[in-house]
Amino acid sequence: MSAVPLRLLILGAHPDDAEFHAGGLILHYTRAGHVVKLVSATDGGAGHQTLAGPPLTEIRSREARAAAQLVGATAELWPFPDGRLEPSLELRERVIREIRTFRPDLVLTHRTCDYHPDHRAIGQAVQDASYLVTVPSICPDAPILRRDPVVATMNDRFTRPTPLRADVILDITDELPAITRLCACHASQFFDWLPFNQQQLDAVPTGEVARLDWLAGQLHGYLRTYADRFRAELIATYGPQQGAAAGLAQAFEISEYAAPLDADARRRLFWFLPEAPTP
Ligand SMILES: [Zn+2]
Repeated sequence: MSAVPLRLLILGAHPDDAEFHAGGLILHYTRAGHVVKLVSATDGGAGHQTLAGPPLTEIRSREARAAAQLVGATAELWPFPDGRLEPSLELRERVIREIRTFRPDLVLTHRTCDYHPDHRAIGQAVQDASYLVTVPSICPDAPILRRDPVVATMNDRFTRPTPLRADVILDITDELPAITRLCACHASQFFDWLPFNQQQLDAVPTGEVARLDWLAGQLHGYLRTYADRFRAELIATYGPQQGAAAGLAQAFEISEYAAPLDADARRRLFWFLPEAPTP
């Protein structure tokens, strides 16, 4: 690892998006002592079946801080209303200022091919900011950076008009318990809202241990799909043995609108990946 800590900025739409879509990478960064900031572009005030508005925002803000504290990251909720996020100039300029002041080495966000309009909106805003962040006359109150970040999108299952390309793939088979603990901090989501929304609220057990086991099973099912789908990329990265054995994975697609992920940047930002796969 480099002497100067790396800086990872995740610009998700909702307070649990970073942990859910990029938990494995967050764990690598925080364990190595790098600086990680988890931003929710919205206030999270729409993600529940019985709560809404400020009381829910307060709960979600607490949950986001608890998850961040668990791994030594920081969390921030922006005040844009949940469920109503637009790729506005205001959002784009907030993203530009955030990138220029936080000075990330790597930025993660959502793709613009995604079921949720809030995900699409922040994904679009980050895409739009990726070049403009280099233009000094845009948001001149926040000076441009000496080195622009690599921007990547987090994994999703959507295919139209184009599926995710796994430019970087992580074998996270051993990380399920840690990712489960991170996601469990967002209790209002993983034990209430998401099961309700998916008509499985009755399946959520009571009791802390049983709930964690249940959530681990849910996350296992989800993260396994990326290992199956990107098997060739896992083998190319980790070699035939580990690549074939990997049970869980997370993948990222590098944006072509920001700094490229050349060999140096790959070694720097993903230092934990094998230099060359074991044959
Ligand atoms: Zn979300």
